[in-house]
Amino acid sequence: MATCEICGKTVDKTKKVKIEGVILEACNQCATYGEPVEEKEIPTSAAVRTRRVFSQKKPETKIKEEYVLVDDYPARVIKARQQMGLEQKDLAKMINEKQSVISKIESGSFQPDDAIIKKLEKALKISLRDRI
Ligand SMILES: [Zn+2]
Repeated sequence: MATCEICGKTVDKTKKVKIEGVILEACNQCATYGEPVEEKEIPTSAAVRTRRVFSQKKPETKIKEEYVLVDDYPARVIKARQQMGLEQKDLAKMINEKQSVISKIESGSFQPDDAIIKKLEKALKISLRDRI
């Protein structure tokens, strides 16, 4: 036996209903005035379960260069350029730099930056860098 919390009637069975936000045990008749309350239990494991966070690798904007300019880069450039039968100005044109840049590189008075190193390597088909 149960008591309807709305009308106070004693009935065989009450139903849980929600009326104005309050959950009440109601008889079948009163239950029609409220919303049926789902008695399904929400599994706590699902509610508590933390979403697995996959550690995403940050896309590296620039891969760290693990190369270092070789000490004898002037000699390598001169040798390769001469083997290809190129003048300094020809090589300069090939890599879109001024002849003075080539001249300074070949004299060792200027250390080419990464961009120039790569262009020289490509143009002369040589390696100017060593792995650290
Ligand atoms: Zn009732």
